[in-house]
Amino acid sequence: MKRTLFLILTLALLLASCAAPVKRTDTVFAMDTVMELTVYGDEALLEDARDVITDMESRLSVTLEGSEINALNSHGSAALSPDTVKLLEGALELCALTGGALDITVYPLVRAWGFTTGEYRVPGEDEIAGLLERVDYNAVALGDGEARLPEGAMVDLGAVAKGYLDDAIAGLWREEGVKSGLLNLGGSVYALGGKPDGSAWRVGVRDPFGSGYLGVIEARDVAVVTSGGYERYFEQDGRTYWHILDPKTGFPADSGLSSVTVVGQEGLLCDGLSTALFVMGLDAATELWRGRTDFDLVLVTSGGEVYITDGLESVFSLSGSYKDKEVKVIRRG
Ligand code: AMP
Ligand code: MG
Repeated sequence: MKRTLFLILTLALLLASCAAPVKRTDTVFAMDTVMELTVYGDEALLEDARDVITDMESRLSVTLEGSEINALNSHGSAALSPDTVKLLEGALELCALTGGALDITVYPLVRAWGFTTGEYRVPGEDEIAGLLERVDYNAVALGDGEARLPEGAMVDLGAVAKGYLDDAIAGLWREEGVKSGLLNLGGSVYALGGKPDGSAWRVGVRDPFGSGYLGVIEARDVAVVTSGGYERYFEQDGRTYWHILDPKTGFPADSGLSSVTVVGQEGLLCDGLSTALFVMGLDAATELWRGRTDFDLVLVTSGGEVYITDGLESVFSLSGSYKDKEVKVIRRG
């Protein structure tokens, strides 16, 4: 009797361990960034994610000849696949929501500053003024699976593509029955479910002034996307110029923020807003947040002050050298 019980128990344990999903990880270099994929389940899930990444890069890359966006920029018009149309529509909505602080037509300037090629330079005032005339997201015409641009205008979805990719991979994994996964697409993180032990994923928020982390967010079924000047910049004559431009001035955004982290269920929204709010600054970011309920923020000022919106109060904590710093909580009232 004892023996049978022992056998049954051993069998049950064996079955349970067989059923537990296995951790799979992969690192992919795409969209000019290192992407880390973690998922609990079959190896094929990673392959599916890699396929989504390859497909998206081949359609959206500004530099890749033959991509839909490259064709649009080269010829002034191009046929777009339904998925690219969807992203472009979503991105244009975010441009409007942020009053043009996010502007996907800022690309001629991004290119002139050398942020596409790595051949950095400070363009002259006249050059900037000339290029600014081409910047206007309202001029992007979209319809019947085709986009059109005015002469000289160019589109770049770099500020939103990784968040959209978060949504696409997480959506696919969810359909495939995944309960636990983590995407880190270079500053654009998505936590699918929690960890297999039931606890939340712990997502680090980079210290914009150093190499470590400023804090940690306990994340579950949310995107956590950060934009900061530290991600890509160059120095010249004692000044630092970073890759997020103010579409109104053509110069790197100088709003008094060093980084913006946006937490919410939709990666596309979080990615677009992280870039836009970095341009808009603390007060405008706070105002925009007060009018909505679909995201929360961690804002770090250039003076090193840390602000969070109240939805993060129970899930955000400081770490490293920031441990004893005061966190200011922004409330709705
Ligand atoms: P992110 O890392 O998501 O903040 O996106 C930054 C990238 O978006 C830059 O490298 C540029 O290619 C592009 N970009 C820079 N400034 C803007 C802007 N104001 N609106 C839209 N895209 C921008
Ligand atoms: Mg962004």
